[in-house]
Amino acid sequence: MADTERTYIMVKPDGVRRGLTGEVIGRIERKGFRIVAMKKMLIPQSLAETHYGEHKGKPFFEGLVRFITSGPVVAMVVEGPGVIAEMRRLMGATRPWEAAPGTIRADFATTVDENIIHGSDGPESAAREIGLFFKPEEILS
Ligand code: UDP
Repeated sequence: MADTERTYIMVKPDGVRRGLTGEVIGRIERKGFRIVAMKKMLIPQSLAETHYGEHKGKPFFEGLVRFITSGPVVAMVVEGPGVIAEMRRLMGATRPWEAAPGTIRADFATTVDENIIHGSDGPESAAREIGLFFKPEEILS
């Protein structure tokens, strides 16, 4: 069995606005992963720029920061065997029209800039992003 890992998952402002938080949480729980931390929050500008730091300088960066700070998100730490890669699979491709049917982005999104969900893309980004959004004592396992 794959190693138990933790990943950072976030329902983006479009998902929260559209009332899809429960849908996303339900998929995570029905899969069998454990939500070990969760909060609804407005992301400050500086945290948004740090979180998406790898995209700084790209044409979509400013729009992305504006979007991710445009309303509340639901931030989570999710735990389980192989959860980092498996959540990426459940989310679907970044561009919803390329996402496999049945994935969250294929089922609920049409555009790349508003694609419902964020999930860490590897162990290093998972550790970094969990640390950006949660204090150790907020994680309950
Ligand atoms: N993004 C965008 N326009 C693009 C590419 C990406 O608005 O042309 C946004 C999109 O919301 C995406 C996020 O930037 O989810 C981060 O991009 P990344 O390539 O890391 O995709 P992800 O890891 O979210 O699938």
